[in-house]
Amino acid sequence: MLHGIPVSRGIAIGRAHLLRPAARDVKHYLVPEERVEAEVQRLVDAINAVNRELQTVRRDLPPDAPSELAAFIDVHALILSDPIIAEEPLKIIRTRHYNAEWALLTQIDELSAQFDEIEDEYLRERKNDIGQVGERVLKILTGSATVLPPSAPSDESLPQMIVVAHDISPADMLQFRDRAFVGFVTDLGGQNSHTAIVARSLDIPAAVGMSNASTLIAEDDWVIIDGDAGIVIVEPAPVVLEQYREAQAQLIRERKKLGKLKKTPAVTRDGTRIHLLANIELPEDCAAALDAGAVGVGLFRSEFLFMGHTGQASRLPSEDEQFESYRKAVVAMKGRPVTIRTLDIGADKPLDKDEETALNPALGLRAIRYCLAEPQMFLTQLRAILRASAYGPINLLIPMLAHAFEIDQTLAMIEQAKVQLRAVKKKFDPNIPVGAMIEIPAAALTLPLFIKRLNFLSIGTNDLIQYTLAIDRVDHEVAHLYNPLHPAVLQLLHMTISAGAKAGIPVAVCGEIAGDPKLTRLLLGMGLREFSMHPAQVLAVKQEILNTDIDLIEPAVKRILKTFEAPSIADAVERLRLL
Ligand code: PEP
Ligand code: MG
Repeated sequence: MLHGIPVSRGIAIGRAHLLRPAARDVKHYLVPEERVEAEVQRLVDAINAVNRELQTVRRDLPPDAPSELAAFIDVHALILSDPIIAEEPLKIIRTRHYNAEWALLTQIDELSAQFDEIEDEYLRERKNDIGQVGERVLKILTGSATVLPPSAPSDESLPQMIVVAHDISPADMLQFRDRAFVGFVTDLGGQNSHTAIVARSLDIPAAVGMSNASTLIAEDDWVIIDGDAGIVIVEPAPVVLEQYREAQAQLIRERKKLGKLKKTPAVTRDGTRIHLLANIELPEDCAAALDAGAVGVGLFRSEFLFMGHTGQASRLPSEDEQFESYRKAVVAMKGRPVTIRTLDIGADKPLDKDEETALNPALGLRAIRYCLAEPQMFLTQLRAILRASAYGPINLLIPMLAHAFEIDQTLAMIEQAKVQLRAVKKKFDPNIPVGAMIEIPAAALTLPLFIKRLNFLSIGTNDLIQYTLAIDRVDHEVAHLYNPLHPAVLQLLHMTISAGAKAGIPVAVCGEIAGDPKLTRLLLGMGLREFSMHPAQVLAVKQEILNTDIDLIEPAVKRILKTFEAPSIADAVERLRLL
């Protein structure tokens, strides 16, 4: 069993097909002076050939290809035309007399070493793009361009194939999609590698960052990819194979059923329309949100743009960098609203891993507290978000508010950011709605303070449960006490939903419970009409909504809210699903 990074869900079972990198078979020799220019030309020709190849792949992209693919192929074309690839290796041939392959590999190794120094995970992973471009050129030079096995056999009894490679470029993945390939395993890559992103868009189980899978797995080995766990099982025992086949069949049945609901509006049996929104961490996640049929982004956790930025020349992403990311998300959502939460840094999401943490970080300088303590940083983010609001509907969501003065200070800073933008003639939505995360019990118990000052509320149950029950959400020793159905949590949830409804302001839940279909009816019965969750959960929750008659469940939910014994609550919530 090999452990890697889960990047694309589902189970794939098949025989391994190994893609050998050309780099492993490269000859190294010195070229005599009189042949140097001919060697330079050989490399130039190979680079041109790859350029043409990429243009062809780009031009012939099937209409249903994932939207990011064209952009990724453009990135590869850009790298190819950059002097670092198009010129430096030529210099190496001329000065050191290396043969073309050796010169190219030398340059790529040099670049790889430089990329390894980069702290930012996303940028560091771009090293793979350079490697993939180099690999294509090498394959042309060595005449070992990939020969693909035959297309998908119509005979379904034949085993399907799993591509095992040191690395796969997004353009190569596209070539595989119509063939009998059902999964990908690569040695390289991370959560943000382009291969991972494309695998997610293609909805193919994949596990990346497997270190040396491509040397441990042999051609034709039986391979199981458990994309949810990020594990790969090689040559499994028959009983394991059988178990996975059953699990896979079950998953496929469920997915097929759910897949049909993508375009179905989320309306309950009694005709109540429910808003199903997506939680995202990076603008790239918008594709998954749209694909799942989300009607907008209910929570863009902006801190992921900041984390891992430390150690670089600038410790924080600049206003322009942030603006680009927010704008990208808004444009990607094509007119659907995007709720951007301002920086929620601290506790389990430290800005700097090496930073000294407080004794109780979850109770420390986190989220809005941190932002108000760092006004320049906060203003930079506010300006970036405001500027993006000129490109589509944005809601501003503020985490961890508990005090009236925090709300007032935040609103004042938003006004200050607007004044600053007006001074430099930058456009923004002057009426951008501002809302609060309700995730501290004190906030849920003082809702009038919030309703009076803000436009909407979003309940962060992950933290609301943590703070209500005094259970550190990341401490496994008390994980058994972390109960979303604790009557105190339900009371706070209900109070917030009811207060919002009474005041006529929207209330969403964006914590994990919003994406748990087992709790959908409970939340509907409490009056919740906006759910924001991981895109992968949207369809399962929608199915639950379509089957629910709110009038029917309301009385049962009212009784649950008057129950204080945990087992009775759990029982009653389960029985809700039978109504
Ligand atoms: C929450 O607390 O419920 C929430 C959605 O925010 P996060 O998980 O990012 O703290
Ligand atoms: Mg939170």
